[in-house]
Amino acid sequence: ATPTAVMVGTGLGARRGILFKNASALETAARIDTVVMDKTGTLTRGEPEVTDVIARGTGENELLTLTAAVERESEHPLAAAVVSYAAARHAPRARADNFRNVPGHGAGATVNGRQVLIGNRKLMADHGIDIAPVAAQRAALASTGRTAVLVAVDGRAAGVIALADAARDTAAGAVAALHGAGVRAVMLTGDNEATARRIADQLGIGTVIAEVLPEDKAAKVAELQAAGRRVAMVGDGANDAPALARADLGTAIGAGTDVAIEPADLVLMRSDPLDVPTALRIGKGTLRKMR
Ligand code: ADP
Ligand code: MG
Repeated sequence: ATPTAVMVGTGLGARRGILFKNASALETAARIDTVVMDKTGTLTRGEPEVTDVIARGTGENELLTLTAAVERESEHPLAAAVVSYAAARHAPRARADNFRNVPGHGAGATVNGRQVLIGNRKLMADHGIDIAPVAAQRAALASTGRTAVLVAVDGRAAGVIALADAARDTAAGAVAALHGAGVRAVMLTGDNEATARRIADQLGIGTVIAEVLPEDKAAKVAELQAAGRRVAMVGDGANDAPALARADLGTAIGAGTDVAIEPADLVLMRSDPLDVPTALRIGKGTLRKMR
């Protein structure tokens, strides 16, 4: 690597908030053929909003009181959206006891003497809750690209809360630019298959790996590498850190999370998905000048 080429590439990137940690990150960028992108916060804004509340057996306001009490204790982005929606609806506040967080699945607590669970199908299955009464509504909401979370009260399915998280303005353009450069784009998410598939379709992403637990994201990257792909992993959150460390080019997007920046080879300061194809292009340009 000629020091001049590396300096030029590094400088070009830095002007756009595209920070390569070292010369080898630039060289690796030139050879990436697969870009795996986390959905929430990377392809989408990561600011979900409640769009629908379906209550069954319990009134809508009561359902919001119970779920918001649980979610007030959680740090999940979906939780914050449920809490602010309940507040906007003036649902009375209640206290949660025995809060437990189940990473990648949801959360639970005791509220007003009732056992409340909120999360995905796996959470409900693990607690032996029959979701048949709300399954059709859940599926219909998920098929529109919304994240549909299930609510159970005292062991029974009590509702569905749907949340929408808009795609970032440049996400589809970034995917098109990657494809144009012969790079495959893959979506990796803990969200459910139908929701992920719908958003991937909107963005032009062909491969979706959904319902992946935070601790399994790195293994999915390793599977692609084992199949011979050179993988960049783009993520924003603490739960992406192991996958970033595992990838050939770990890429942290957004200046937010130190935990994601630490293991990254490349940091995209601006939260703009278009900086992903731009970074790969800078890598290629650098490599050409080195030859
Ligand atoms: P992502 O990879 O999109 O960041 P997570 O792995 O954090 O997603 O969560 C996966 C799924 O688990 C969510 O889509 C949601 O259905 C459920 N879930 C997790 N935590 C919560 C919570 N606090 N409230 C509601 N649902 C949750
Ligand atoms: Mg995320």
